[in-house]
Amino acid sequence: MEQKPIKKVLVANRGEIAIRIMRSCREMGIQTVAVFSDADRSSMHVRYANEAYNIGLAPSSESYLNMDKIIAVAKKSGADAIHPGYGFLSENSVFARRCQEEGLRFIGPSPESIQMMGDKISARKKMIEAGVPVVPGTTEKVTNELEAIKIIKEIGLPVMIKASAGGGGKGMRLVKKESQIASSLRAARSEAKTAFGDDSLYIEKYIDSPHHVEFQILSDKYGNTVHLFERECSVQRRHQKVVEETPSPILTPEVRSRMGEYAVAAANAAKYEGAGTIEFIMDSNLNFYFLEMNTRLQVEHPITERVVGVDLVKEQIRITEGFPLPFRQEDLKQSGHAIECRIYAEDTDNNFMPNPGTITHITEPYGLGVRCDGYVYEGYSIPIYYDSLISKLIVWGRTREEAIERMRRALYEYKITGVKTTIRFLERIMDTPDFRNGEYNTHFIEKNSEFLLADGICDKKCEDIAMIATYAEYISRLENKKTNAGSPIKKETNWKGQFRRFTSRF
Ligand code: ADP
Repeated sequence: MEQKPIKKVLVANRGEIAIRIMRSCREMGIQTVAVFSDADRSSMHVRYANEAYNIGLAPSSESYLNMDKIIAVAKKSGADAIHPGYGFLSENSVFARRCQEEGLRFIGPSPESIQMMGDKISARKKMIEAGVPVVPGTTEKVTNELEAIKIIKEIGLPVMIKASAGGGGKGMRLVKKESQIASSLRAARSEAKTAFGDDSLYIEKYIDSPHHVEFQILSDKYGNTVHLFERECSVQRRHQKVVEETPSPILTPEVRSRMGEYAVAAANAAKYEGAGTIEFIMDSNLNFYFLEMNTRLQVEHPITERVVGVDLVKEQIRITEGFPLPFRQEDLKQSGHAIECRIYAEDTDNNFMPNPGTITHITEPYGLGVRCDGYVYEGYSIPIYYDSLISKLIVWGRTREEAIERMRRALYEYKITGVKTTIRFLERIMDTPDFRNGEYNTHFIEKNSEFLLADGICDKKCEDIAMIATYAEYISRLENKKTNAGSPIKKETNWKGQFRRFTSRF
């Protein structure tokens, strides 16, 4: 197969992921095209790209989900490929096919693979065919209540009722008692219809004390597939990931290698091309089952990049260009430990309500082993229309203990004012004994909520002390500067006023 280099990529996304993709393009000498909605005129991804085009109104249905406009911009700007990022059109097989038809290269798998794996019922069937262990449950959609009751009795309570088109934890209900079946079915069906326009449901066994462990895979156009090990994503709130780490604290080398082999088999069964993720659910005895496949780059991909030493976006682009994978399975190793924290503009004291607004001050953490993938800046207003993710903080350490201490240090350095954030909550997670001991499952936040959400009196005091110490250091630096400049030291008489002025910057 001939290799055709990509010269210009349109990034059909916004926020941190748009910038993250453009960074790799820049390193590869590839030109970038940004698209933006009316709400994103002053967004960083617009400034970062070589060219930027407005594609419509703020609601994503009018802009980031508008295939016609995005394709028209790609053609007008002379882009030869489209990277969809995550969310928006990234797992939309119709869009991938449209790109193909318009002679644009879609940086992702084929429309057929997206379609097969995007429908969770057809993905389950395919995995069973391929011999991959799947959560016990139905392989056809469940149509009525009587049928559901019969199936649930066979599987045994508790069960999960899930939307076949599901994503983002939507259209999913845990059923513990028989009396909940009818109402859960109704709720799941109506949520699925609203969120995905498809109300097909299926039922699977609820795995007790579950761990979410996923494997990153890469497949080229020549049938070569490798896995890049696992990510442990069991720190979740409402079935959504909050903190991820790799390696998983619970896997044994033997289980890791078996899961890796199944992940490769799953990708091969889907005739996959590009970067993808096979998600497994695992019980406390390390029995694991296929949950779903994400046919795109994941939010949490940087921890894999750090521990395996591979730029996943570059590999996605090279695969699309037609290059074979530059490594074999035996070339890939896990080195050290990485953790990612998702920083959201949310009010943790108010049920994690999104808290968009203007950033009045931001100090991002730096230093050894720290990566911060963000997109906001001082004076930037986070729009209300999109996800409230501000950034992803990723740290690396030689050991898990070092990575945790580094994450605590980086979170301590991270200062954002103007909007409420989840930073303090994440610091608390790092301090929780269950997390520190690596003894946690998807119930971790619920189990530790009292500690995680306790009002921050102690933290507030510590912060005040830290502020006073920083102020003292600032004053002494100021005075040293004056001395060095040869001017006389002027004693600060109104120190309270100056302290107030100083602290108002934070
Ligand atoms: P979505 O695509 O909406 O994110 P997933 O199928 O990936 O849905 O599940 C999201 C999360 O829900 C999992 O990480 C896990 O915490 C929980 N979950 C899903 N299915 C099960 C199950 N059968 N047993 C226990 N927990 C589950």
